[in-house]
Amino acid sequence: MSGISSDEALRRLDVYGANALPEATTRHPIFRFLAQFNNALIYFLLAAAVAALALGHTIDAVVIVAVVTVNAIVGFIQEGKAERALSAIRDMIAPHAAVMRDGVRTTIPVKELVPGDLVLVEAGDRVPADLRLVRARNLLIDEAMLTGESVTASKAEAPVAVDAALGDRASMAFSGTLVAAGQGAGIAVATGRLTQIGHISALIAKVEPLTTPLLRQINAFGRGFTVIAFLASAALFAFAVLVRGYDWVEALIAVVALAVGAIPEGLPAVITITLAIGVRRMAARNAVIRRLPAVETLGATSIICSDKTGTLTRNEMTARRLITATHRLEASGSGYAPEGRFTALGSDDDVAALEAAEELIRCGLLCNDATLAAAGGRWTVNGDPMEGALVTLAVKAGLDPDHLRAEWPRQDEIPFDALHRFMASRHGRPQGGAVLFVKGAPEALLARCGTQAEPGSVARLDSAYWADEVAGAAREGERVLGFAMKMLPEAASDGRLDFEDVADLCFLGLVGFIDPPRPEVIAAIAECRSAGIAVKMITGDHAATAAAIAAKLGLADHLEVATGADVDAASDPELVALATRASVFARTSPEHKLRIVRALRSTGAVVAMTGDGVNDAPALKQADVGVAMGVKGTEAAKEASEMVLLDDNFVSIVSAVHEGRTVYDNVRKVIAWTLPTNGGEVLAVVAAILFGFVMPMSAVQILWINLITTITLGLALAFEPPEPGVMGRPPRRSDAPLLTPFLLWRVLFVSVLLAVGTLGMFFYALGEGRDLATARTLVVNTIVVLEIFYLFNVRFMHMTSFSWHGALGTPAVLLALVAVLAAQFAFTYVPAMHELFGTTPVTLADGMRIVGLGVVFMAVLEGEKMLLRRFGVVD
Ligand code: ADP
Ligand code: MG
Repeated sequence: MSGISSDEALRRLDVYGANALPEATTRHPIFRFLAQFNNALIYFLLAAAVAALALGHTIDAVVIVAVVTVNAIVGFIQEGKAERALSAIRDMIAPHAAVMRDGVRTTIPVKELVPGDLVLVEAGDRVPADLRLVRARNLLIDEAMLTGESVTASKAEAPVAVDAALGDRASMAFSGTLVAAGQGAGIAVATGRLTQIGHISALIAKVEPLTTPLLRQINAFGRGFTVIAFLASAALFAFAVLVRGYDWVEALIAVVALAVGAIPEGLPAVITITLAIGVRRMAARNAVIRRLPAVETLGATSIICSDKTGTLTRNEMTARRLITATHRLEASGSGYAPEGRFTALGSDDDVAALEAAEELIRCGLLCNDATLAAAGGRWTVNGDPMEGALVTLAVKAGLDPDHLRAEWPRQDEIPFDALHRFMASRHGRPQGGAVLFVKGAPEALLARCGTQAEPGSVARLDSAYWADEVAGAAREGERVLGFAMKMLPEAASDGRLDFEDVADLCFLGLVGFIDPPRPEVIAAIAECRSAGIAVKMITGDHAATAAAIAAKLGLADHLEVATGADVDAASDPELVALATRASVFARTSPEHKLRIVRALRSTGAVVAMTGDGVNDAPALKQADVGVAMGVKGTEAAKEASEMVLLDDNFVSIVSAVHEGRTVYDNVRKVIAWTLPTNGGEVLAVVAAILFGFVMPMSAVQILWINLITTITLGLALAFEPPEPGVMGRPPRRSDAPLLTPFLLWRVLFVSVLLAVGTLGMFFYALGEGRDLATARTLVVNTIVVLEIFYLFNVRFMHMTSFSWHGALGTPAVLLALVAVLAAQFAFTYVPAMHELFGTTPVTLADGMRIVGLGVVFMAVLEGEKMLLRRFGVVD
């Protein structure tokens, strides 16, 4: 079965179109724009504009409408950008399918699949098109999404009745359904909209909304705040008119402006951007977020449970040691290059030793799905790296893979599964009859063996000998694999292989592989430990192998190793203690992962857990952050996860945590900056009304400040790089409120400072005999300048801002600075602005006074930061 040619596939792609369902309809841009106005606050503002117009305050009305419109435009552009960036990142993990093209197995994007393609599916895959099965081995498919049937459907090649109902078409696999177990192959008969799923358009995946717990918290906060601001404004209005005798039109406009000034209307947008930037930075570091809330959760992660092979280690296997019943050998060479020689250990007869291992090496080559490829002098594996290493080993021993595989044709197989931990294949022998080859975890195989192979004879199995040898190799960190075989009476069988056949085997020997730890992981684990994050290794490998690798990686000071059997033996409460103590879990199967993650989470820990197989899906779902492997992970694992690693590397998880912490810090910075800048204005105006002096700012001036600073200065904080030392702090508690006592203090303190500074400037100007317009222009400029200084202060919450780093800012900060200064100069010196906002030019001396005030303000802020840090109050 060689499939179609790639030329033919291209032609068919032209005829039938891409194998994709129409995109879920996104909202039309006009509706997205209008949605920006759908907000209680905006209604409030628009009502105020109408009122202003009716009262003859045309300029105020125009300015209010302009502010609302600019705000909506900015929100619209930002939201669109965030959505596009997120969908581009999602495309990085678009699904692939295995097909036969030009006679070789290749992986193509699902979109490029055409009718007639021979498609191969296995456990964990999503069926990429409607397939007529030509081969089904223990194939179970979950068709719930199509038929609503919760029991998995068992598939077979035999044809079914023409009029069979969808759920009874056992010879078909339908696009979008999930392979729960087994493997199969089928010819694509329908792609894209022509598939069964294509007929049911309601099932098309919905676009996930741009929301997270943090955003919901902030929106709720905003709504509550709006209500309070509204009530307070009403009270203040009554007070101003009734007690202070303000003109009611003036008072209304002022109070409306005040409410608008108090409400951080730009906050949700800026925070959405902060999250989107975090997602983008994570993607640049090979961690693709599938669900937005994970961005926040990552920052609070306190335990990372990681697979060993491929994630902590390189998964570049080299078969180093061969052990038979009578001989030991070592193979030289590195990587997959099939060059190297064999040396007998403990004897000098290399030839006899190699002869003794011949059956073992052949078993490794035939019970094997990998192939080697050489490109530019570099040898790579197509398939499982450990199997690739076995092919290399065979070539080193002088075997010819293609020739041998043709001579011993495979009749059937039982694929490797982490549950039973072996793979078996049945082959026809060149001399007639059939043979069964098995490879797998030594314990799993030894339990199925009664005899062992010795040169020229078969002896009783010496379990103690093998157990010793396995332990010896594993202690050195080698991954040990056992091999066994069995002659099959040809007459008694139909060429199929079943689980019952894998018994009474003859053990051939062991191969020890080296799989070096990824060097960069050592530093990443050290970083986790300094960041208060525990790392736990969960592996299917042998306990001694896992412990040796864990020691090389510096996983813990006192390494405690638990096995799957220990986990089974522990009651739920015992498991909580065991899971907390142990840092290596060996010989585990996917259900153990589920129990371990549950136990850890029950202590309040925030757990990230990696996985790749279909059986890992429940544990990935259970974890706070399920992390799927992008390269070797199944579609089922990816869909169950919050994050996908493009390079399967542990380091990428740590990078994502680093970025997650940065995002959370930046959200806090955005809040710590936005709230007091609103608070300062509010206090100044409220003071004016309460104490009955003239307003230090007009309504439109307040609107101006809010508009101009949120979309420049506030937004700049979304782009902040991590502060040094983000990974030197313990993880934040997942139940910590956004507004911690420290943050609340900061908001109050800075609000008061801002109000004092601006009012000080106001009364100074009036006292010097300036007119009201000049005094107000000075006040507005003072607020903006103080906000700029505060921006530089808040960029570093955990250290002083007095550094080169702090003074120079980031491109985003500098851009915001230039924009806001340009706007302020226009506001102060452009005649049209004088008309609109009632401003007047400011003298150079007054300008210097404002900057001087800013410097004093900054010194006070830095002093406060230093004191709070000295007393350890900063969080
Ligand atoms: P890991 O956590 O190291 O990825 P796995 O669950 O993949 O562990 O494998 C567990 C054990 O199963 C391995 O130690 C090995 O003995 C055996 N094994 C792994 N892959 C294969 C395979 N392709 N064929 C046979 N046995 C395998
Ligand atoms: Mg594995």
